[in-house]
Amino acid sequence: MTQRSTTLIHHPYQAPEGFAALAPAVHKASTVFFPNVHALRTQEWKDKSGYTYGLHGTPTTFVLEERIATLEGGQYCVLAPSGLSALALVDMAFLCCGDELLIPDNAYGPNVAFAEGELAQWGITHRRYNPMDPADLAAKLSSATRLVWLEAPGSVTLEYPDLPALVAVVQAANAGRLAERRVITALDNTWGAGVAFGAFNLGVDVSMQALTKYPSGGADVLMGSVVTRDAALHQALLMCHMRLGLGVSGNDAELVLRGLHTLDLRYHAHDLATRQLAQWVQSQPGVAQVLHPALPGSPGHAAWARDAKAAGCLFSVVFDAAIAQAHIDAFLDRLQRFKLGWSWAGPVSLCAPYHVSAMRTQPWPHAGGLVRFAVGLEAVSDLQADLQQAWPALQVG
Ligand SMILES: *Cc1c(COP(=O)(O)O)cnc(C)c1O
Repeated sequence: MTQRSTTLIHHPYQAPEGFAALAPAVHKASTVFFPNVHALRTQEWKDKSGYTYGLHGTPTTFVLEERIATLEGGQYCVLAPSGLSALALVDMAFLCCGDELLIPDNAYGPNVAFAEGELAQWGITHRRYNPMDPADLAAKLSSATRLVWLEAPGSVTLEYPDLPALVAVVQAANAGRLAERRVITALDNTWGAGVAFGAFNLGVDVSMQALTKYPSGGADVLMGSVVTRDAALHQALLMCHMRLGLGVSGNDAELVLRGLHTLDLRYHAHDLATRQLAQWVQSQPGVAQVLHPALPGSPGHAAWARDAKAAGCLFSVVFDAAIAQAHIDAFLDRLQRFKLGWSWAGPVSLCAPYHVSAMRTQPWPHAGGLVRFAVGLEAVSDLQADLQQAWPALQVG
């Protein structure tokens, strides 16, 4: 008689076909069974014509990849276990010893940290450029440059760059280069999320996102994506991704797939609430500047107004230099609805203080402290009341 341990595993019941519902099934696997040796030898995962091993994709992750590629107007997508691992994948797929990487001066901090750490150890140099000055990018491009990161806007200071102008600088440099020495442009598109603007319409080669943020929307899952329209770039990403073993779990993919249904609605709800709060904060005492691309006077507002359709959930406040950091800290501690924490685009509003001059190579024009706010999905009136009740802690004037 077959033993229980075996019948629990080799069970004859087969689920009926024909179950139709909105959500795709959550498929999980390390091993994928092949029907015969021929299939084991010939089944191909790279073009999604078959399955070979959990790390190489399941029906669930393939569905999510297709949806993210569609969202961004791209052709191909790979998923990674976090936004940061997706970012590092781009660097590792395209850079070799002796190459140089250019990073905007207001870039997401861990992008710089990876360049200063692992990439430097591997003989890959990097330089920071001023994203608000295409001539600075042009001056820093050299024959060693292989990859240029873009970010719109900078994730803490929210300057909105002229992306088409930056891309045009790279394209001009590429005109005289061999195809294999072409400079690749990669956009950290976490802020735009495929909703605020079409990255590929603006000419970028690669769009990376932290799906952790808007696509998930739940503040409960970490994931990243890298989308391209270029088959050769995708192939390089795919092979590096495979060799690094950057798998994502079916349960996590399910959470992001669920989030995608409400992505557009949530993005615009965040956007509306954020504009209202940013405007209100601008009228409060003790504020030197509110940074938010949709506010006239915020750096890059004109480029944002020309290239983007929405402005997301972030705004930063630069306080008057006369307000001590200790008072800013007390203000943050007094907030109730706004939680202290990293990340954004979840249901809960967040805030965090930043020491900006320590984060960039070029001078930062403000002396006062900066706080970045990420507006969640609570009622704006409650968020405004929360800011108002904490404001006295700033001890303005
Ligand atoms: C959050 C974030 C990332 C990294 O995403 P994780 O999933 O947290 O690793 C990368 N870039 C930007 C702009 C981000 O905001």
